[in-house]
Amino acid sequence: MDKSLKKNTYLDFAATSPVEERVFNAMLPYFREDFGNSSSIHQWGQQSENALENARISVAQKINCKPTEIIFTSGGSESDNLALKGTALARRSLNGANKILISPVEHPAVSETARQLKEVFDFEMEYLKIDEYGRVDLEDLEKRINPEVAIVSIIYGNNEIGTINPIRQLAEICHQALVPIHTDAVQAAAHLRMDVNRDQVDLLSLGAHKFYGPKGVGALFVRSGTPIIPIQTGGNQESELRAGTHNIPYIVGLAEALTITNENMNNYHEKIIPMRDYLIDSVLASIPDSKLTGHPSHRLANHTSFVFQGLDGNELLVILDQNGFACSSGSACKVGNPKPSEVLLNIGLAPEWASGSLRVTLGRTTTMEEINSFIQILPGVVKSLRK
Ligand SMILES: *Cc1c(COP(=O)(O)O)cnc(C)c1O
Repeated sequence: MDKSLKKNTYLDFAATSPVEERVFNAMLPYFREDFGNSSSIHQWGQQSENALENARISVAQKINCKPTEIIFTSGGSESDNLALKGTALARRSLNGANKILISPVEHPAVSETARQLKEVFDFEMEYLKIDEYGRVDLEDLEKRINPEVAIVSIIYGNNEIGTINPIRQLAEICHQALVPIHTDAVQAAAHLRMDVNRDQVDLLSLGAHKFYGPKGVGALFVRSGTPIIPIQTGGNQESELRAGTHNIPYIVGLAEALTITNENMNNYHEKIIPMRDYLIDSVLASIPDSKLTGHPSHRLANHTSFVFQGLDGNELLVILDQNGFACSSGSACKVGNPKPSEVLLNIGLAPEWASGSLRVTLGRTTTMEEINSFIQILPGVVKSLRK
């Protein structure tokens, strides 16, 4: 059989997920029938405006904030950029605050933005202490927070190692010092109910394609009163924080995808967490010199990640793909990069361990049969690559 016709097993849901059918159907009318510009006065404009504001109300309900606190963006990366740059620059001009605190295991959308703020915009940037699982040290944050800090940004659920941070406790420390805290919840929102009131964060990023919505659309929660300036300037859309004609079908899709995610959260957990734990236990039991990366229990529901000593993770991915399994070595943004992941080095792994990383992330459609056939081939593949 032609190899291109063979359907592989997709185990890379942390990289992206397919658009759910209900989401796709909700989006369709806004491409051709109700295609208006939501800023127009006429009937077409009003229809789009209604769809936009209904989506905003829906997203706000899901994460427990006011509709006016939701800013629609082009995705998780843009939400992170707007949060960090927008707030850091606004806080500096208001209070002279000139420092940025982030964890050393952020997604590049945060870490590279912080780096640019340092190198181009003359902010100081410091990394917070983390433990071996990538959880931020509360005492370290408490020690280092002060009014000179413009913004703190800490990832909610880690895309590479699956670890969930104690966001509420971290946010309390920031609030006592009156410093705004942003969390990148792009990965977490697919697996946990987000509640900005419970968690007390000031800014929170979402991206639809991680929870079975379309790629290229996201949202940023901005608590009212948080200092922030727009990063993309132009028209006065999104409370003058994000210029550009609204992408109504995608925004409608994001709202629908988040609704479905939250509706099914309990059933999803019941199904997927035992599969995740079975996969983790089986891999560690069947492969010598293997380690789980990230926290064993404070961990995203679908997320498994490992390191195998003395092999090349990219080679492993190629052989797994040939065997019919689509996995990842960490972040999808690292394709073609032979260096071990910064995140893995920063949780303290030696390079000869960190180079042999594998991330296997499950999804709504993943079955026990798929997990079992994966577990059957993995030990042999690892062994052959170690020779
Ligand atoms: C995927 C991801 C992003 C980037 O989101 P895009 O919508 O792809 O731009 C940012 N942060 C985390 C944690 C992610 O998993």
